Amino acid sequence: MMTSAEIRKKFLDFFVSKGHTIVPSAPIVVKNDPTLKFTNAGMNQFKDYFLGNKKSPHARVADTQKCLRVSGKHNDLEEVGVDTYHHTMFEMLGNWSFGDPANPAAGYFKKEAIAWSWELLTAVYDIPEDRMYVTVFEGDEANKLPRDTEAYEEWKKWIAPKRILLGSKKDNFWEMGDTGPCGPCTEIHVDCRSDAERDAVAGATLVNNDHPQVIEIWNNVFIQFNRLKDGSLQPLPAKHVDTGMGLERLVRVMQGKHSNYDTDLFTGTIARVEAIVGKKYSAGDGIQDVAFRVLADHLRAISFTIADGQLPSNTEAGYVIRRILRRAVRYYYSYLDYKKPLLFQLVPLLAAQFKTVFPELDQQADFVAKVVREEEEAFLRTLEKGLRRMDDLMSALRGSAAKLLPGSAAFELYDTYGFPIDLTGLIARENGFTVDQPGFEAEMQKQKDRSRAATAIDTEDWMVLVDNPLVEFVGYEMLETNTQIVKYRKI
Ligand code: ATP
Ligand code: MG
Ligand code: MG
Ligand code: MG
Repeated sequence: MMTSAEIRKKFLDFFVSKGHTIVPSAPIVVKNDPTLKFTNAGMNQFKDYFLGNKKSPHARVADTQKCLRVSGKHNDLEEVGVDTYHHTMFEMLGNWSFGDPANPAAGYFKKEAIAWSWELLTAVYDIPEDRMYVTVFEGDEANKLPRDTEAYEEWKKWIAPKRILLGSKKDNFWEMGDTGPCGPCTEIHVDCRSDAERDAVAGATLVNNDHPQVIEIWNNVFIQFNRLKDGSLQPLPAKHVDTGMGLERLVRVMQGKHSNYDTDLFTGTIARVEAIVGKKYSAGDGIQDVAFRVLADHLRAISFTIADGQLPSNTEAGYVIRRILRRAVRYYYSYLDYKKPLLFQLVPLLAAQFKTVFPELDQQADFVAKVVREEEEAFLRTLEKGLRRMDDLMSALRGSAAKLLPGSAAFELYDTYGFPIDLTGLIARENGFTVDQPGFEAEMQKQKDRSRAATAIDTEDWMVLVDNPLVEFVGYEMLETNTQIVKYRKI
């Protein structure tokens, strides 16, 4: 059985053999882009090449990119731990061709991209052909988008026509916004159902339909149009290939597992959690198993993001990390019955695991563990009281038909006990309640109007640790609004 390290290496070696230059992962935190807090796809760092603002020094590149999908356009947080293949942080393997009309032979397009995807999956990784199917853009008349017949014809060279499905604009057309570069994509799915299970479903050949064992692994995007303000499409003079394959899903397929968490990317962390909490993970759907998966997942998001310079805080990107961390704390506190800081104990193991792939974590492992520990301790100081308060609030409303937790209650939990709104929402849902989100936001706004103090933190949000590792945790400070902030200083 191939290890995840071998699988990653084979991807990169394969594309080197096809003339690609390997580039490092960009940081998971995005500094200079107001539209994006975190890297959510391999292509982010190449945006300027697609927009034509810059020219790539290499026509063909490949890499593994640290991605985070917990906010904005891609937010998979609610899925994580509940299903077995959406992570907060994951590695996106990718290969790119940046077209140059002056030198067309340097790049490649649909023919090569499709042939190479197929070659890699079948000849290098040995995934059986009859386990795979692909989707191709069907076209969209209302939006004047043509069907991708070229991709269809290329696939027909490799795979039986019944395994080529047509997909809609939602899944098979990529665009950055209402205008700008765009194009169709073709996605590769793997069907990991047992033969018996497949055959039992009459007529069901190959549709994903969110079946937990039929998963999308690879997206190949062909950036070939520029969409103008009037909605019309212009062919781009420079056509580009942009692909992304989730490493964790690929490894799951290659290691013959039914869950990403059963692969060697996660089993080490889960075993360590088992040892610490004295409970067993059984890969099931129960809440205790969800908690194990959430921890194994969130640890990565938190650790890699801090290592890339985003400290937890009360605003913007820093608050996204704090939210994920508090969500993880609540899972072990409530469902693994562990009442002390836990995540920080797992950081050294994770750092060692990724030492050669993402050395920035190992280089700062002590600092990351320290930040995580302080964060855990701070939240554990108010969590128990907050959970009791929330119980009381829900008990008082139990008789009501609406089962709606008012915005003022959600705000109290946020302001006094440090409960991020999505955590309150999660606990509410577990108890059959919903939260009055607009009411909560109105309370937040009122607080902001009352005090401008919180905005002062914005400028302290960001520090580049890799360039400037001399940062020290100095303690907590309570704002007058009762909001706790963590303070660091440069040393
Ligand atoms: P899905 O439909 O499963 O949510 P997607 O269509 O949103 O995936 P893409 O944006 O096409 O994903 O990203 C390319 C690849 O990255 C996917 O084919 C998948 O292998 C991987 N991927 C996407 N989101 C996640 C995630 N949250 N966790 C792990 N891998 C992911
Ligand atoms: Mg998705
Ligand atoms: Mg998809
Ligand atoms: Mg996709």
